[in-house]
Amino acid sequence: MNEKVLFSDKEISNNLDKLAIELDIYISNLPKEERNKVIFIGLLSGCIHFVSDLTRKIKSDHKLAFIKASSYLNNKRGDLTIDMNIKSIDGHHVIILDDICDTGITLNSVVNKLSEGSPLSIKTCVLVNKILPNKQHKPDYKVFDVDDVFIYGYGLDYNEYKRNLKDIRIKIG
Ligand code: 5GP
Ligand code: MG
Repeated sequence: MNEKVLFSDKEISNNLDKLAIELDIYISNLPKEERNKVIFIGLLSGCIHFVSDLTRKIKSDHKLAFIKASSYLNNKRGDLTIDMNIKSIDGHHVIILDDICDTGITLNSVVNKLSEGSPLSIKTCVLVNKILPNKQHKPDYKVFDVDDVFIYGYGLDYNEYKRNLKDIRIKIG
């Protein structure tokens, strides 16, 4: 397969350093009594390396949870189920971490679902944001922007493989 590296491991790491600083600033600007009420929620499976590398660069105290979100595609309402007790986010500032925001359908549904609980706030943060018109959700924080191309590596799959790559790649030719 002909491929090229779009974002190297060094570039990813450097950009995660910057994002961690941004998130630490966001958390330090929360009201004092709420600063230890922060929960990061990773969306499995694509988020794994992103969450692991990013959260270890963040200095502020936080909780960490993961959810698997599945939508019933045949259901006209596009209902989404998540394997999490929504009560556990009550009184917390939630920061959702995902690998990629493409159409934004997934993040939009997850934000709506988590809003059924009583979080203090919900922010979204992605490794890669695809530049597309009419997105259903625009992430609050992003590491990279890409055009409408298919990418893989660093958690993102290519037919369920390649998640283990240290960099992010694109097929060429
Ligand atoms: P959405 O369209 O709902 O924003 O994205 C849904 C999911 O599609 C993402 O979380 C991701 O798992 C997958 N996806 C979208 N674009 C790509 C891509 O370029 N590469 C890979 N590996 N997955 C993608
Ligand atoms: Mg995903």
